[in-house]
Amino acid sequence: MTGAGRAGKVWLVGAGPGDPGLLTLKGARALAGCDTLVYDYLASQAILELAPPQCERIYVGKQAGRHSLTQDEITALIVKLGHDGKKVVRLKGGDVFVFARGGEEARALAEAGVPFEIVPGVTSAIAGPAYAGIPVTHRAHNTSFTVATGHEDPTKGESSLDFAKLANRKATTIFLMAMTNLAAITAKLREHGLPGDTPVGIVHEGTKPTQEVVVATLDTVLDAVARSGISAPAVVVFGNVVNEREHIRWFDAQPLFGKRVLVTRPAHQTGDFATRLWEAGAEPIVAPVIAIVPPDDIAAAAAAVARVRDYDWVAFTSRNGVDAFFDRLRAIERDARAFGDTKVAAIGPKTAAALAARGIRVDLVPTTFVNEAVAAELLARTQPGERVLLYRAQEARDVLPETLRLHGRTVDVVAAYRTRFVDDPELGAKTERADIVTFTSSSTVAGFVHNVPDAARALAPKRVAAIGPITAQTAREHGIRVDIVADEFTVDGLLFALAEPAAV
Ligand code: SAH
Repeated sequence: MTGAGRAGKVWLVGAGPGDPGLLTLKGARALAGCDTLVYDYLASQAILELAPPQCERIYVGKQAGRHSLTQDEITALIVKLGHDGKKVVRLKGGDVFVFARGGEEARALAEAGVPFEIVPGVTSAIAGPAYAGIPVTHRAHNTSFTVATGHEDPTKGESSLDFAKLANRKATTIFLMAMTNLAAITAKLREHGLPGDTPVGIVHEGTKPTQEVVVATLDTVLDAVARSGISAPAVVVFGNVVNEREHIRWFDAQPLFGKRVLVTRPAHQTGDFATRLWEAGAEPIVAPVIAIVPPDDIAAAAAAVARVRDYDWVAFTSRNGVDAFFDRLRAIERDARAFGDTKVAAIGPKTAAALAARGIRVDLVPTTFVNEAVAAELLARTQPGERVLLYRAQEARDVLPETLRLHGRTVDVVAAYRTRFVDDPELGAKTERADIVTFTSSSTVAGFVHNVPDAARALAPKRVAAIGPITAQTAREHGIRVDIVADEFTVDGLLFALAEPAAV
């Protein structure tokens, strides 16, 4: 039992096979509440980041040149942490009970009286084939599947595998950890009567942007492996279900599959974009080159919020402006009622969504996001003499307020926030790894150039994508060639443009 104070607990959590979206909701909740994270599998950064920043992270896996803990040492460690009153997440790849020694760890916890929970994960044995378009069962092909370890060499000593049972073309046999012993395994299967034309599928790094798939037959698979160079970690599937891939291949058929995409937007906004890239089969490389910080004139930013109902209209040009507005409203202990009858305009659907999330139904969302056109739409809805508050970035362009003033509106431009550059000494190297570099605002271009002064040359061999014409223009002013400009100036629009066959 734990001593005085709160009781510790250990969650054995399966992280899934790679795609961070395959972590369970329960796993995410356990991670969000843990004091200590013990992991041996190189889980995606997105999953590790679900643990709170102050959480102690202990990597117990193999690392070149460093002593790694033995299984007994790992088990002793989580028992001790639990005893010490910690909330511990023990994170494993795939599922915790599929060739992952979760059974031993759970037993040690039970015997030591440390409370624990098991949070199953999506196993690579099923998800790897699924992302290759291979269903592990299919009415037309089989009524059972077996998951086996290929770790033991079947030609040496006693193998506990019953190859007579596994050599069944009508059942599906799935091997994990089989690449080293593949020659011996295929020989055994043939010896036990599995026909040479039995389909074989190999899925390397399934569910990841680095996924590779080789399809062959029992007779040709060793040649196919040698030719393709496909290697561990891989799932090897024997059986007729492998033939379904030609019909239902999906993940690695997406246009962005396997592309490495540099994301330069601020850290608090990368999550959504990064997740969407993962879903499209791309690998996001996160490199925030700007951060959103308070403006120079904080007093003016606060004063405008306090007297917002004095205006006929308030216009927000970004989600950051909305966030800043409501942070300040909260600081003076007020809420959305502060708007009174003041009408609200939102430039862009994401800005409108941020307002809607706070209970504000906007009165105007211009149909385009280019300043000149926005001005025209605002003019159509306002009268000369009306007062407009523009709550926006400190470094924004002046076209919008100037046009409104020219037509007799009284415009107060208030800086809600400003962007500052973030130093990233790795940016050059990250850019080199990337296939596509994305800019979601003019400031991200400036932030990139701040870190990589010779941006034009660094980006010459890359595909460069801009969220809209203004951002593209800024890039070109720095000598950067822009290949892709989104039609709809949102992250969704950018993703759509990236996925066009011509773009990649
Ligand atoms: N508990 C894990 C398996 C651990 S054993 C699970 O349920 O998935 C490690 C083996 O799993 C590897 O040798 C490989 O065969 C397989 N594996 C794990 N992740 C994989 C992935 N993304 N793609 C293909 N195989 C994977």
